[in-house]
Amino acid sequence: MKAIRLEQNGGPDVLALADIPVPEPGANEVRVRHHAIGVNFIDTYQRSGLYKIGLPSGLGLEAAGVVEAIGASVTRFKQGDRIVYASGPIGAYAEANVVNEVRAVKLPDAIPFDIAAASLLKGMTARFLLRKTFRVERGHDVVIHAAAGGVGQIAVQWAKHLGANVIAVVGSDAKGEIAKSLGADHIIIQTRDDIAKRVREITGVGAHVVYDSVGKDTFLASLDCLRPLGMMVSFGNASGPPPDINPLLLSQKGSLFLTRPTMFSYTATVEQLDETSADLFDVIERGAVKIAPPAHYALADAAQSHRDLEGRKTTGSLVLVP
Ligand code: NDP
Repeated sequence: MKAIRLEQNGGPDVLALADIPVPEPGANEVRVRHHAIGVNFIDTYQRSGLYKIGLPSGLGLEAAGVVEAIGASVTRFKQGDRIVYASGPIGAYAEANVVNEVRAVKLPDAIPFDIAAASLLKGMTARFLLRKTFRVERGHDVVIHAAAGGVGQIAVQWAKHLGANVIAVVGSDAKGEIAKSLGADHIIIQTRDDIAKRVREITGVGAHVVYDSVGKDTFLASLDCLRPLGMMVSFGNASGPPPDINPLLLSQKGSLFLTRPTMFSYTATVEQLDETSADLFDVIERGAVKIAPPAHYALADAAQSHRDLEGRKTTGSLVLVP
């Protein structure tokens, strides 16, 4: 089968299409024939070496497709089921992958494969951020960075659905229009505006919570957006890892809380995975969160999808089609 492989860390050019054997499922695994593969920013960290993976390796953690073979002990799925997974095993950039049955979920009939691959990882991230890491409630002032991106578009809509006052931070006016169309109450242009000053003008005392996936370029400004006892959620490094900070800084800025969560910790058990994905599918099926049609790339063009994602050229989600 065709699969993207990398022999070494580096830029997008290290991604190469190769022929590899079709994997056989172990006792608790299913083999999924992929219809759409999610491209996530974490894939770029694993490609570049910011996050370490064993090499040589495949890439990609998320895909949607049909179960075509099952291991002897599998009970959750049968052949022909439509399923989606978002936590690997690494190697989703391929025509098929084997997945432990407890890491996959059944896909509701109403959700197409490309929408599933565009939204499971990003949507479960939005869900744990808004419902678990900090429980957003009506009237909360919430700052969401990269608001026109994959996670961002879902988070903006979900936060509005919860009744928050959403302050969206984006990289351009065009992206601001997208965030606005999704319901964001206020738009801040990261490359032009003073983020903390604008948030204070909007909120008075500062935001209850900041969801910062940009990292290096925005981390300190995000801390300055918060009211006393506010929650800083640093959940990504799109511009590079955030700076080292002394915990005393959190006290000086008003006894702030700081967390650095990952989706994997919040969906570690099958019960957590089922609860989180069911909540996501529910808001999608009820129309509270609309998943924009993702940009489609051929599997062979995985490198181009990374160039576009890292070049801030994309909005919403990207999928690879085998
Ligand atoms: P996005 O579609 O959001 O793409 C990243 C966006 O970050 C860009 O479009 C860009 O938006 C913004 N950005 C700001 N500065 C830079 C920069 N210097 N270089 C590149 N991009 C920049 O990607 P995803 O939806 O896949 O992921 C969003 C973020 O969430 C990532 O940081 C990812 O690592 C994180 N994440 C974390 C998870 C977790 O469990 N902790 C799980 C899933 C995602 P703009 O131009 O508007 O600024």
